Amino acid sequence: MQREKSSDFMPIVAGVAKQSYLATSLEDTSSNEKLIANVKLMRNYGILVLFINSIANYFQDLTYSLFFTSISCTILVLTHFFIKDTHFRITRFIFVVTVCMSISALCYVEGVVVGDYLYVFVLLIISIFIYDYKETAQLIFVFVATICCFAFIFSMAPFHSTVQRIGEQAERITFMINIFASVFITCMISFVILKQNYYNSKNILQEQQFFNTVFNTSSYAAFIIDGHTMAITDCNKQSLQMFDINDKPLLLEKSINILFKDFHTDEKISELFLKNKENWQGELTCFIASGVEFPGYVSIAPFLHGDKLLKKVTILDITALKKTQAELVIAKDKAEQAMKAKSQFLSNMSHELRTPLNGIIGTANLLLDEASMPEQKEHFDLLKFSSEHMLHLINDVLDFSKIEADMMELEKVPFNTNEFLHKIHNLFASQYAKKNILLEFDLDSKLDRYLLGDETRLSQVLSNLIANALKFTENGKVVVTAKMIKSTSKKASIYFSVKDTGLGITKKQQELIFLSFTQGDTTTTRKFGGTGLGLSISKNIIGLYNGEIKVESEKGKGSNFYFTIDLDLHLSNKSFVNEKIMSSLVSLENMKVLIAEDNLINMLVARKFLKKWNVVPEEAINGIEALDKFRKEDFDVLLIDLEMPEMDGYETIKEIRKINTHIPVIAFTAAVYDDMQTDLIGKGFTDYIQKPFRPEDLHRKLSFYAKSVAG
Ligand code: ADP
Repeated sequence: MQREKSSDFMPIVAGVAKQSYLATSLEDTSSNEKLIANVKLMRNYGILVLFINSIANYFQDLTYSLFFTSISCTILVLTHFFIKDTHFRITRFIFVVTVCMSISALCYVEGVVVGDYLYVFVLLIISIFIYDYKETAQLIFVFVATICCFAFIFSMAPFHSTVQRIGEQAERITFMINIFASVFITCMISFVILKQNYYNSKNILQEQQFFNTVFNTSSYAAFIIDGHTMAITDCNKQSLQMFDINDKPLLLEKSINILFKDFHTDEKISELFLKNKENWQGELTCFIASGVEFPGYVSIAPFLHGDKLLKKVTILDITALKKTQAELVIAKDKAEQAMKAKSQFLSNMSHELRTPLNGIIGTANLLLDEASMPEQKEHFDLLKFSSEHMLHLINDVLDFSKIEADMMELEKVPFNTNEFLHKIHNLFASQYAKKNILLEFDLDSKLDRYLLGDETRLSQVLSNLIANALKFTENGKVVVTAKMIKSTSKKASIYFSVKDTGLGITKKQQELIFLSFTQGDTTTTRKFGGTGLGLSISKNIIGLYNGEIKVESEKGKGSNFYFTIDLDLHLSNKSFVNEKIMSSLVSLENMKVLIAEDNLINMLVARKFLKKWNVVPEEAINGIEALDKFRKEDFDVLLIDLEMPEMDGYETIKEIRKINTHIPVIAFTAAVYDDMQTDLIGKGFTDYIQKPFRPEDLHRKLSFYAKSVAG
């Protein structure tokens, strides 16, 4: 019994397919084509029969009969020429009406005795052949027309003809011919109908076999369940294999939820199969009677079969997929860990390299300061330049590894754009003057306001562009432009450009220069040096602001690098470390500075310069000593190294802030990490200076605090 039920599935599937619009319209088209062919066939038979009849009437001298048969034949011939195939309904209507009229008229003029009315039965058979059973109204019309035809014949037509003379012998022969012809035509049409039915059922059978094959050869388990009871009404072969079931009847009529883990405790499962009226897809843990579990990707699709709600449930075993996914996650984690380790290693290495480099740069600064002979100065200058260049390279490699590990982040700290650009100008003024290249800054007055952004990273981008412009320009000038091109109450769009009159870059090189380790022209590399990382890093930084650095350049005429970024406006004018104006230098005489630093060379360099500026330095080699001295004496500014033995800078500031909340404390650090500025402010520092420090930077910072102290 259950097995019989299961074989219902194919019409169900066929029904589902037919539900779609496409299927319906295809079905309509093919049934119309069939009807057109049938109408044409019947019309041609009609023409043939009427034509033969006309000839017979002519020879028998039956004028009235000849008149009606030839008129009817002509009408049908005209439909062949004047009515298109697609308007087969009109042809069909004309055919039925003409045949009805012709039979009635012939019965009237030849008398009922010759049996022309027999063709009414033929017309009824033909109607079945040329009408679709769905065309109810038209079928009713045909039946009514034939009944009217019959009614007319038996009420109006005489038994023997009264209008034309037909002999008894002729009547008998015509009757025989009519019987023979009507039976013959009926047989023929019945045969054609039977043939069509045969091919229709063969097609349906083939379609069923096709769906059966598709259903049973799929790699997923498919079930048809009752939408109200969850009972399985059919399933494919794969479902038996998947759930380790030998015989299909063992599954049929069972509730589908038994195939899932925790089906009796997890209400969600029953709810999904029972209440859900929409399509659903998701992962569920499937459960085999032997106790084995496996992850399945389940999809539930409800559909109506007649007025019965059914649901098609398909289950795909995704064990292998899950395994691959898990392996991928592990591989990704490993790759990320390796990337982090690499980045950490580079960060550590760069820190380690920076420490001796601090010593070299600091010593070079000292030597430069103390050198009296111009020749010595030149050598120390070279030493200073080379060590600073090396520091620059270390920073670039560190940034590059951060970008690779997707670890570069931007700070969001208020800074005054105008002041920021002035600082950049100051940074490059002397280098440009040395090379005799004019450095112009074209600044928008609207930029004299506070924006939120990563000043250090922006400065890195602009410095790279301005340094490149200087590097690749032999004469002429470099113009740095900054414009506010759009602003709302919350945001401002700022356009920056660095335009030089230097070597220029060819179109082909322009496509390469933003890639890592790529330089425009290898001959310039040899001449000017560089790693080819600067523009790639800059591009990434601007990319983090959702902007893009572009270049317009012509070989020999110069280049213009430009980008636009959106920055949030800083609504209050409260400033942090970087916004301090440090342009005017003031005397630092008798300023009392406590310096905590464990590295002897750094201490030596700092001490030398502080003494030179007549600052009174007090030294401590770790946090404990610094704290001790701070408790005993008054200072104007504290310079605290972050990495010190026994008590580091972070611990020290915590203790200092417990005693004094307002004294300026400058972090003295070789560390470089994301959100450094925000982090240091959060920990209680007022400002920071990066090691190796430029003496002029330290002087500016101290000048500012000397001013604030004085103010
Ligand atoms: P590098 O450290 O080698 O300068 P960059 O990424 O900053 O690396 O620049 C890549 C290349 O782009 C340079 O080697 C140079 O060929 C070209 N380039 C950059 N800026 C300019 C410029 N202003 N004029 C001409 N060429 C430039």
